[in-house]
Amino acid sequence: MSRVVDRAGTWIGWALFADLASAFTLTFGYMFSKPVTMQYPDKEKWLPYSRYRGHHFLKRDEEGEIKCVACELCARICPCDCIEVVPYEDENGNRHPAKFEIDTARCLFCGLCEDACPADAIALGQQYEFSSFSSRDLVIGRDDLLEKPGKAMAGGGVVAARLNTDEDVLVETSEPHGYNWWRNIRRT
Ligand code: SF4
Ligand code: SF4
Repeated sequence: MSRVVDRAGTWIGWALFADLASAFTLTFGYMFSKPVTMQYPDKEKWLPYSRYRGHHFLKRDEEGEIKCVACELCARICPCDCIEVVPYEDENGNRHPAKFEIDTARCLFCGLCEDACPADAIALGQQYEFSSFSSRDLVIGRDDLLEKPGKAMAGGGVVAARLNTDEDVLVETSEPHGYNWWRNIRRT
C-alpha cells in the first residue's frame, strides 16, 4: 500500500513540476519578447472596426437637409433616457428637431436609437475620443451631432498618430488603414 502511495506522490510531484516549468517558460518568454504596449496617444492610434459603436452623428439627405423628422422614437426606445428631442413644424408641415440632445455621459452605446430610427437619421460612428472633465460637455446638441464623423469604411488596425495640444487635445492621423497590432501579441 505504501508503495502505491509513494508512486502516486511521485507522479503528483512531477505533474506540479511540469506545471511550474511551463509557467516559467511562459514568463521568461514574455520577458525576452518584443513589448506590445500601444503608444497611444503620442505615436499610435486605434482605428475601430466599421461595426464599432462610438459617438453618435446625425445624417443629412442629398439636399443637405437634416434627415431627422423629430418623431422621438429614438428617445422613447433609449434605455438610459438620455435623448431629448423637441420638434417643430415648418411652413410646409414637415417636422424637424428644434432641439436634439444626447447625454453621452449616460449613454451605454447600445445602438437601439440607430435601430429604431425610421428615417435612417441617426447612427453611432467611429469617434471614441471625447472625454471631458465636465459632464455638461458630454451633452451633445443637434449641430454638433451633424458635424460628427460617420461610420468607418475600414478599421481594425493601428496607425501612426501624433498628439496635438496646440489648441485642443487632438490625436491626429492621416492614415486611413492601420497595421494589425494583434500580430505582435504572443500566443501559445
Ligand atoms: S446608444 Fe442606446 S443608450 Fe445611447 S442614446 Fe442610443 S439608445 Fe440610448
Ligand atoms: S433620429 Fe430618427 S428616431 Fe430619433 S427623432 Fe429623429 S427621426 Fe425620429
